[in-house]
Amino acid sequence: MNINITEKYSCFLTSLKTEFPHVRIELSKNVWWKKCLDEWFLKKSDGTFTTTLFNTIAVPNDFHYWTESTKYEVLMHEREHLRQYKRYSLGTKNIIFGAIIMGILYLFCLPTIFTMRSHFEKQAYEMSARAMIECECGDRKNWFVNWMAKTFCGWEYVWMCPFKHHIEKWAAKVWDRNYKKWHKEEGVNHGE
Ligand SMILES: [Zn+2]
Repeated sequence: MNINITEKYSCFLTSLKTEFPHVRIELSKNVWWKKCLDEWFLKKSDGTFTTTLFNTIAVPNDFHYWTESTKYEVLMHEREHLRQYKRYSLGTKNIIFGAIIMGILYLFCLPTIFTMRSHFEKQAYEMSARAMIECECGDRKNWFVNWMAKTFCGWEYVWMCPFKHHIEKWAAKVWDRNYKKWHKEEGVNHGE
């Protein structure tokens, strides 16, 4: 199946701007709070994290060299966090307010085992899975399941869910669900 990633990525950026007119995609070196995060908390990651706070998506400094499919996969994930800010803004739809509320839940609500952090990231990684399926025709299920187990049960998010088997089952389900959805949509789009 032919997938025009350039077109897909460009459509995505347009729809992101329409949905979130104030959103900015910035290199980490230009964002003071991301530089602090990289310096103090995420040293181990060598600044390779993408993080969204308020209207700023802070991407790693080598972002311009990434492939468009990687950019798409990462930004689909971050868009979900922006949507969460809106959802958690107590009806105001104010990103700043929502980010503060979500930040509190993300950081302090049950520090481990089925945390709100785990809940928020599950929603965002579902978007990552969806983007991967769209860009690579669904060939990376095993890779995704292993990656999720490592991500949710490891240091990157402070061991937000210690139950590897639970995460593997969830990740496999997420992949299958999105694969089916994508297949159905592609079928409709291509008149198959
Ligand atoms: Zn995330």
